Amino acid sequence: MTTSIHIQTDEQAHLRTTARAFLARHAPALDVRIWDEAGTYPEHLFREIARLGWYDVVAGDEDVDGTAGLLITLCEEIGKASSDLVALFNLNLSGLRDIHRWGTPEQQETYGAPVLAGDARLSIAVSEPDVGSDAASVATRAEKVGDGWVLNGQKTYCEGAGLPGAVMELVARVGGGGRKRDQLGVFLVPVDHPGVEVRRMPALGRNISGIYEVFLRDVTLPATAVLGEPGEGWQILKERLVLERIMISSGFLGSVAAVLDLTVHYANEREQFGKALSTYQGVTLPLAEMFVRLDAARCAVRRSADLFDAGLPCEVESTMAKFLSGQLYAEASALAMQIQGAYGYVRDHALPMHHSDGIIARVVAGPPSVQLDFIARSMGLGTGASR
Ligand SMILES: Cc1cc2nc3c(=O)[nH]c(=O)nc-3n(C[C@H](O)[C@H](O)[C@H](O)COP(=O)(O)OP(=O)(O)OC[C@H]3O[C@@H](n4cnc5c(N)ncnc54)[C@H](O)[C@@H]3O)c2cc1C
Repeated sequence: MTTSIHIQTDEQAHLRTTARAFLARHAPALDVRIWDEAGTYPEHLFREIARLGWYDVVAGDEDVDGTAGLLITLCEEIGKASSDLVALFNLNLSGLRDIHRWGTPEQQETYGAPVLAGDARLSIAVSEPDVGSDAASVATRAEKVGDGWVLNGQKTYCEGAGLPGAVMELVARVGGGGRKRDQLGVFLVPVDHPGVEVRRMPALGRNISGIYEVFLRDVTLPATAVLGEPGEGWQILKERLVLERIMISSGFLGSVAAVLDLTVHYANEREQFGKALSTYQGVTLPLAEMFVRLDAARCAVRRSADLFDAGLPCEVESTMAKFLSGQLYAEASALAMQIQGAYGYVRDHALPMHHSDGIIARVVAGPPSVQLDFIARSMGLGTGASR
């Protein structure tokens, strides 16, 4: 109903069919709703994902051909079940990609292999109580002591960081000269490491993964815990974010499609004043507009994936894709709540989950105003000179 036609490669089409069947079996709507309401992490689902080899796409020496094209296919299908599940999938994938792009063979073995085997999971810890969009201002300190490092500080909103077997990619200030962003390092820190304390933060949504505060008190790490070189943290984050934005955006599109499907069904079934809701233009036209925006956002996501797979820069394009899809998920889920009236408010179906998760789609991976500011600068605004 809410899927328009886009040309896919044979590989993408095959993967989509496989993913649909897999998710219908291992993440059916009722189970996802129960996980969301109870705040339960579906360990078995992610074990199965690892066993199926979905992480292998990014775990080689080089990205495989069509990496992003395959990943948006998977994320869109997972997003139909829940954008929270996409977030968890993305954390493992993006983390594995970082470890294979920047890590030593030993780090790939120690931290990457258990994730590939489905025994561990990855998380990212950048945000702090006083550091949000301005990520370069991270205050958590890493001091060089002998051959190793000692970390002190606090992180916030770290998704999935409290789940069993989680290892954080934790960004800390390592010192050195130059700009703020040149003084950052990424450390691989298991959450059960001495000196690390993790506390779940009560939140409106993202209940399956959960968001966590992380306290670091004299956390002593060996030199082998540093990913890349100390001082390369910003570069690692910047590169990671491009594919991450593309994947997350695609997940949002899947969620929007699911929300529209639920609402179209409801509007056809529900009768008021003697007619189905779907006969009233006040109901149909806003839904049709969301459908058009979904299609446009999908074009933007696919364009970013194509550029990525062609090895071309797509920082601006992936930012636009995230802007469009994040706004759309928030607005489409709010519209769906409106059209489903009192029924939408009852926790009897997926809509309340989509609504709470949709709200935060505008914030995670960059709020709209910060993204538009970046896009404005790419247009030559703010420099005083036209391109
Ligand atoms: C569900 C969830 C999961 C998350 N997962 C993680 C995670 O796994 N790891 C992690 O490190 N962090 C995570 N975060 C934190 C997330 O990265 C931050 O929310 C995000 O970076 C924005 O920071 P902030 O929320 O502190 O907003 P702030 O940066 O404080 O901004 C607040 C608002 O001010 C405005 N604003 C800020 N700066 C500008 C500007 N320059 N121009 C115009 N307007 C501006 C925007 O409207 C913005 O929405 C998560 C957050 C949530 C809610």
